[in-house]
Amino acid sequence: MNNYFKEIPKVNILNLPTPLVELKRLSSYLGGPHIYLKRDDMTGLGLGGNKTRKLEFLLGDALKLGCDSVIMYGDVQSNCCRQAAAAAAAVGLKCHLVISGAKPDYAEGNLLLDYIFGAEIHWCGKYEKGEKVPEIAEKLKKSGLNPYIIPYGGSNYIGVLGFATAICEINEQINNQNINIDYIITPSSSGGTHAGIALGVDICGLSSKVIGIGIDRNGPSEYESDLAELANKAAAKVGLSKKYYPKDFIMNYDYFGEGYGVIGDLEKEAMYLVGQYEGILLDPVYNGRAMGALIDLIKKNKFNKDESVLLWHTGGIQAVFTRSKEIFCGKIV
Ligand SMILES: *Cc1c(COP(=O)(O)O)cnc(C)c1O
Repeated sequence: MNNYFKEIPKVNILNLPTPLVELKRLSSYLGGPHIYLKRDDMTGLGLGGNKTRKLEFLLGDALKLGCDSVIMYGDVQSNCCRQAAAAAAAVGLKCHLVISGAKPDYAEGNLLLDYIFGAEIHWCGKYEKGEKVPEIAEKLKKSGLNPYIIPYGGSNYIGVLGFATAICEINEQINNQNINIDYIITPSSSGGTHAGIALGVDICGLSSKVIGIGIDRNGPSEYESDLAELANKAAAKVGLSKKYYPKDFIMNYDYFGEGYGVIGDLEKEAMYLVGQYEGILLDPVYNGRAMGALIDLIKKNKFNKDESVLLWHTGGIQAVFTRSKEIFCGKIV
């Protein structure tokens, strides 16, 4: 691993490197550029996903601070909460999840896994933005625990480091496979993944352009500033003297459709195409949308045939099963 990360506490709980694969059949069907997939759906622990890369650094920090438990919030099917539950179990920390909504009659998908991985769930009704976290942290402290609060989506400058190191990992794969990646496309939501990729690209000196596909917002807001701030703090942490500005982050908000988590034809077509041509499963919320965006951009000739475009597969497969009715009904290619 790159020297930049040598001194930073981290736990090692993943199956790395995740595969870097070329989707040759999809690419030939689309008549498009070389398409690569970085399979972070295969990070391994707790059924995989992108958040565990961040959690390796966040839990490393928690252990260094002598914490005995973690708290994080999210919605009932949060991928991040499920990965936090698994990661906490793997390193012996108690996981408290602050979940919005009311306790359902039975648990499925990520919620079921939260329970299986031993998390304690605190139901907090209409409080969706972690409003209850301080109160629950206080309660845990009073009971003698020393909790570590994981930020939303694992996205602070510490979590970002997990994706900066992921670029060091892919850099090695690119060199070994003797390929060049012109574009890296990632679903972009709480920002840690996108900011980390951008930072890693600079640390490793790659020439790839990074493009975030907006998943849960439909227009420029403060988001690019948030990305710059995350990257700046993480750069400072590893001693990289580069200053990031909002304009350094390329976001495409054209694929928001009917909203966050609403599964439209774009997502479904991408899922069925990648399934039928490659035998690879995409989730409907993040990667279905990001791959749908990529396919649309290819159809609009935004890439040259000899260019290489990589989609970062961030996991989230559980939603295929919790949302099966919406995915199966409707238009199938
Ligand atoms: C959280 C998540 C993302 C987005 O990553 P951010 O770092 O929050 O931008 C993408 N895909 C899946 C499956 C996720 O769970």
